Amino acid sequence: MRTIQTPKEIKAITFGLMDPEEYREMSATKVITADTYDDDGFPIDMGLMDPRLGVIDPGLECRTCGQRAGSCNGHFGHIELAAPVIHVSFSKLIRRLLRTTCRKCSRIVLSEEEKIGIKDRYKRAQGLILSPETVAKDIVRMTKKHDFCPHPECGAQQYDIQHEKPTTFYEVQDVLSSEYSNLILGAMQPDTEDETSTGVSPQELSEITKIPIDRINQIISGEFRPLEEDRIAIQKALKVDLTVKDANK
Ligand SMILES: [Zn+2]
Ligand SMILES: [Zn+2]
Repeated sequence: MRTIQTPKEIKAITFGLMDPEEYREMSATKVITADTYDDDGFPIDMGLMDPRLGVIDPGLECRTCGQRAGSCNGHFGHIELAAPVIHVSFSKLIRRLLRTTCRKCSRIVLSEEEKIGIKDRYKRAQGLILSPETVAKDIVRMTKKHDFCPHPECGAQQYDIQHEKPTTFYEVQDVLSSEYSNLILGAMQPDTEDETSTGVSPQELSEITKIPIDRINQIISGEFRPLEEDRIAIQKALKVDLTVKDANK
């Protein structure tokens, strides 16, 4: 007679994710086709009715446990995905992690003092009304204030992360507008609301920005796209935004 062992005590149950290799080891067969039966009515190997997954036909035996329908409980198979897919339950967490870590050095985008502050808060949060979730939200809020990585040896610029459901994440970057020459010309015109305003001449713009006059003329005519630092200098001098938001998918 079969003896059934019952567990006496369960201390804890943890839920987590298994490694793809664990799934493959557990799997009775890989399923590679959505077909079920062949022309003679037999289950197709590595199809959805592969006999290693269990059988429903009374005349067949399960090829994993040897039992017949009714005695065999069935066995898991697996499908290899053609490309990595984001687990939907983690999409929120992934966005949070992308937003709170540096795109270059992968460290959390918080200064040393901020980290100490958060650690203190977290210690106090355990067992108190303040939940770890609240602390996590605080971290997101604090990291959002940093446009640049606060770690001195890194300092990389950070971009906002947008999530397009279900599984696309992209950075939103400011890129040079294709209208940059018109935007610059417009900003160089005298302010119509202010009679004392005389506008900015190309020569003056060159002096303020330290960009050679020839280059200024090329930029204004649209012949030359201003480099990053020149764009920033022109934006500052003319108080104009030459960028548009671009989704770097
Ligand atoms: Zn079986
Ligand atoms: Zn960094």
